[in-house]
Amino acid sequence: MRTFQTKKLDEAISLALAHVEPITESESIPTTDSFGRVLAEDILCPEDLPGFARSAMDGYAVRAQDTAGASREHPVTLRIIGSVEMGQDPRTLPDLLPGEACEIPTGGPMPPSADAVIMLEETARQNNDVVQLFSAVTPGTHVLAADSDFRRGELVFKAGHKLRAVDIGALLAMGILSVRVYRRVRVGIISTGSELVEAHEKIRLGQVRQINSHILRGLIESQSAQSLFFGIVPDEREKIRAAVQHAVSESDMVLLSGGSSVGARDWTLQILQDLGQVFVHGLQIRPGKPTICAIIERKPVMGLPGNPVSCALVFEKFVRPVLARRSGLKVLLPSHRLASAQLIQTVRSAVGREDFVAVRVRIDEADGTLYAEPILGHSHNISTLARADGIVRIPAELEEIPEGAQVWVELL
Ligand code: AMP
Ligand code: MG
Repeated sequence: MRTFQTKKLDEAISLALAHVEPITESESIPTTDSFGRVLAEDILCPEDLPGFARSAMDGYAVRAQDTAGASREHPVTLRIIGSVEMGQDPRTLPDLLPGEACEIPTGGPMPPSADAVIMLEETARQNNDVVQLFSAVTPGTHVLAADSDFRRGELVFKAGHKLRAVDIGALLAMGILSVRVYRRVRVGIISTGSELVEAHEKIRLGQVRQINSHILRGLIESQSAQSLFFGIVPDEREKIRAAVQHAVSESDMVLLSGGSSVGARDWTLQILQDLGQVFVHGLQIRPGKPTICAIIERKPVMGLPGNPVSCALVFEKFVRPVLARRSGLKVLLPSHRLASAQLIQTVRSAVGREDFVAVRVRIDEADGTLYAEPILGHSHNISTLARADGIVRIPAELEEIPEGAQVWVELL
């Protein structure tokens, strides 16, 4: 009789991460196309940014010393010598002599001898040529220094950083037009189960439409990896074995769905043991207990439960960090967004097991309070996740989370 040697999720992730090698091949791609990709090089800032001193306010560029003592009661009067245009080359701007000011818009370049900006609200224009100041400023007030955004030579991103939308903006602001990133990880998918047919095929009573490969594909692509589907394979040892060998040879990492438990028709464990080294079989979580992690030819091969809810959840909780490491990510932060909500019904779990409960999130329009409502019904049905907004985790050491408790919801 085969049995599980279950592990805590944390322990299984640490073990898996210790075994998984990041891919090493990289490619140079346009920065504009680099969303979600993992940097294979450190990025040093090539030039000061913004590169010239800019005003942070609409107002007047001044020499701070000329404003000394200015107040509502005793305004200081300066002579206006011109106005700065957006985009103007600061070298074409006039020098300010003592007692002079220059009109300046937010973001406009500072005239060379001006060292502060006095905001419009603190002034009154007397006529075309004269402005009154109602407060004093010190050097640097409302001025963004030439290197206030990034400094030339500064380490901006380290290799292993995953590029977000704002990072692409920062790279382009520095004039970095291409970046070296790790190539996309190719994740092979095999769906096992003699009852499965493709969704577009004619279905007989007793058969089940195969959906896991499509769920997995979306989850894989959301990690900027590439998915390769190796088809549906019936519960026959030799066929599954051949499919695994083929998928391993064509991919950087392989996911099997179905057949990961200990039943008579569950071949995944034996096959992965034959072909490589299995170091996780069974997780102390629900759903998702029958989960396997192995290394074959130095590539992670993971057996996921066939149940679509379990399969999706195990991807989120276990496959995601493994794929992130394989993709070259250095820092593995949780990738889900969290919402704090008040649980409206008690949820229960067995001690020693981490449970994940699907919830709907409701917002009270009046005061913005969020409520998490556990989804009843059979937790194994895909409808549970389809109706859910997120997942609430019940830690292993708790038997329940009571109604009214404030919980973190991991949004799906
Ligand atoms: P297994 O893990 O092979 O015991 O499968 C558990 C349950 O999930 C069974 O009811 C299967 O029919 C179902 N199942 C397995 N694979 C898939 C799939 N790819 N798509 C939809 N349901 C599946
Ligand atoms: Mg099966």
